[in-house]
Amino acid sequence: MSPLHLTTKLPLLASRTARRHCLGLQTTSFSASSRAKSPRPDATALLSDLEHLFASPAKSPRADGAPGRSKLSRLPELPPQERHLVHDASNTGQLDGNPAKHLAVDIGGAQRLFDCIFLRDSCTCPQCVDPHSRQKLFQTSDIPPNLKGRYELTGDEETGLSVEVLWENDVPGYGPEHRTRHSIDWLCRALSTALELRNEAQTDVKVLWDKDTITKNNKWVEYEAWMAEDEVLYDALSHLNKYGLLFLKGVPESEESVVNIAGRIGLLKDTFYGRTWDVRSKPRAENIAYTPQFLGLHMDLLYTSNPPHLQLLHSLRARAPRGESFFSDSFHAAHKLRAKSEVHFRKLCTYPVPYHYHHPTHHYHHTRCTIETLRAMKHDEAIPPIHRVNWSPPFQAPFDKHIGGGYQPALRDYVAAAHAFEKLLSAKSNVYEYRLEEGECVIFDNRRVLHARRAFDATKGERWLKGAYVDDDVFFSRLRVLQERFEGRWTADGVAREVVK
Ligand SMILES: [Zn+2]
Repeated sequence: MSPLHLTTKLPLLASRTARRHCLGLQTTSFSASSRAKSPRPDATALLSDLEHLFASPAKSPRADGAPGRSKLSRLPELPPQERHLVHDASNTGQLDGNPAKHLAVDIGGAQRLFDCIFLRDSCTCPQCVDPHSRQKLFQTSDIPPNLKGRYELTGDEETGLSVEVLWENDVPGYGPEHRTRHSIDWLCRALSTALELRNEAQTDVKVLWDKDTITKNNKWVEYEAWMAEDEVLYDALSHLNKYGLLFLKGVPESEESVVNIAGRIGLLKDTFYGRTWDVRSKPRAENIAYTPQFLGLHMDLLYTSNPPHLQLLHSLRARAPRGESFFSDSFHAAHKLRAKSEVHFRKLCTYPVPYHYHHPTHHYHHTRCTIETLRAMKHDEAIPPIHRVNWSPPFQAPFDKHIGGGYQPALRDYVAAAHAFEKLLSAKSNVYEYRLEEGECVIFDNRRVLHARRAFDATKGERWLKGAYVDDDVFFSRLRVLQERFEGRWTADGVAREVVK
């Protein structure tokens, strides 16, 4: 099964530096061999661009409004749908040198328009962003709507070519000395990101898997290396992001080990089960997980508004016969279902399923559709990418909608769709089974990979897992920090952004 690589190739071109940024938006997919940090722009190339710019016959870069054009004019034309971004309005600055609400900046030989409000709002000078806290020191809402600016081109070896905007009017409290500087590289990247978001492009690194795929691609990481080496951690977290499943071995026999493992990602998620919790059988268990019974494929805590992203299970005792864990990629099953029956797929996208945890001291309740797509689905539209799957039969509450009042096929249609989906989830060819040994730990994406357990014989020995959760924000924060450090880019809202100054 090949990765889902959905992205746009952008036509934006600028200096050699910016070109690398703007064309480099291919995928966040990662392999150990391609891990080199993306190199800083070649300073010589930058300087040569700068020299060319300032040595061009038009002495002032603003005189013809198209700095460096001759050198860059061989770059490809913009596709028609992007041409409206090219300057042709008389109220635009820089072509005539007058202050304006929109400024045209030459990026790769094309005049790109930037709204002054955007340029002003993203100012990072020490007056606008506190250098220590990195917090913004003015409010977007205080930017005057009639804001006008003009810019001068400037440059240095560190950031390359930049525009320095002089404001005709400004946010109250800012004097005439206030200037906003943005590098061409940064503007180019901002424009690329805006275009990708507008085109709803998604950089999706997920590899959907069945039993064969995951058996071939499973990853095992040594506990010591996980704890000590950031590069190993990045490699492992990238794999986890791709497949939703990861195994650790050599984990010390301690109730604290799962805390240490999760701590490398960030804060643990505390729930009413505790900061960590034990999966071992006990009499009159308040949760089916605490019995030796078979436990079918499910996700945890769907009855809360933000279910945990990651679940960790560390095996401290595996001395009872059986009790194998098994896993299934719900995204894979959802894709299969969509290919098999769009009617079933749409039903799972729209039918509300309530989940609950209803006990004397805790009462959680949350309703979710089984499949969530990335964008709202219009009736006649192609189906957008899958965002989430919600599947947790043991924690389902009674249905609230479409339950009576004459002939309402909705509930019956839902059951038929759920039945088809369950068949795919639990198909032998889609399920990966593994019996966790002592000293091993599994980490999985609780919003994607379903987990289950075979029954075990609690009379013949002990079975004890120590569990913990990690939230999505915590996981993606660590992943971004490491991605920025090792790859020179980071991903948010499905768009990979190059690190530029
Ligand atoms: Zn500023």
